[in-house]
Amino acid sequence: MSNQMKALSKDKPEEGLWLGHHPVPEIGPDDVLIRVNKTGICGTDIHIWNWDEWAANTVPIPMITGHEFAGEIVELGRDVTGLKIGQRCSGEGHLITHDSRQSRSGKYHLDPGTRGIGVNEQGAFAQYLRLPAFNVVPLPDEIPDEIGAILDPLGNAVHTALSFEVLGEDVLITGAGPIGIMAAAVVRHAGARNVVLTDLNPDRLALAQTVVPRLRTVDVRHEELNDVIHELGMKEGFDIGLEMSGNQKALDQMVEALVMGGKIALLGIPPGKSPVDWSRIVFKAITIKGVYGREMFETWYKMIAMLQNGLDVSKVITHRFDVDQFKQGFEAMKSGKSGKVVLDWTKGR
Ligand code: ZN
Repeated sequence: MSNQMKALSKDKPEEGLWLGHHPVPEIGPDDVLIRVNKTGICGTDIHIWNWDEWAANTVPIPMITGHEFAGEIVELGRDVTGLKIGQRCSGEGHLITHDSRQSRSGKYHLDPGTRGIGVNEQGAFAQYLRLPAFNVVPLPDEIPDEIGAILDPLGNAVHTALSFEVLGEDVLITGAGPIGIMAAAVVRHAGARNVVLTDLNPDRLALAQTVVPRLRTVDVRHEELNDVIHELGMKEGFDIGLEMSGNQKALDQMVEALVMGGKIALLGIPPGKSPVDWSRIVFKAITIKGVYGREMFETWYKMIAMLQNGLDVSKVITHRFDVDQFKQGFEAMKSGKSGKVVLDWTKGR
């Protein structure tokens, strides 16, 4: 192996990413080196590409971006046990400390010292990635690399969708981005009765129809949720809401459409502070849960189990490019019409 690798990095404090050569990372005693096969482009990567205020305040330069990946282990740190060279894997991109109260109680995803690959630490848009062995998630043979490359966002969807018991429940999801669509697929798989997904973007709603069986999509520019509630024969409204859009109006509509004592899991991130009708939430006795990342490693366990048991999100991947064509991949993401965009790192090595 040469000690240089191709990687996509933020080299300058301006719009764009640059494909260049970087040293292959050196691993520590508790790390593994992963040869990356496929990566997914995330909304986070678009923020970094655009170099918006969040990115400029958060991401040091130069930074190899990307955190959604699948590959195989090519080197083991000297203290690593339980993993093998050649093991296919994905992995958790949140690097945690082990000494916080939350970590020591097993709630690793709530560790306040979390650092993200591709944001705070060198990331996965590269031919090789260093990762703590702790973060590695082995892939069973039946999960291909391209699904392995979207387990991070699927994990956000699973974590949110399984926040509350959905068996037999009526579930409203606001925001039909890839994570909203995958959350709809998960609650359908997990036994929800009615699954309704709202958005303002007809392309995304059409994509959702191809991914999720028996899904009712609602373009809220043209339809009222109240009419949909009656059409589907729900007596009082939705039992559970999954907010995936970060849009204030969507949250207001969700609160209105929920039953008394309904539950909301929030994953969407509003652009700033936004007004909330708290008295409405109090009088409806609504429970709200904020969702961050994926539970380590219960979300990963459930997600892989569901994929092995027939959960199919493959159609959410709408675009595939070799990494040399990464600009087209980012264009597709920025068009607002794509599902997941996957970059292939395997050509010509
Ligand atoms: Zn992501």
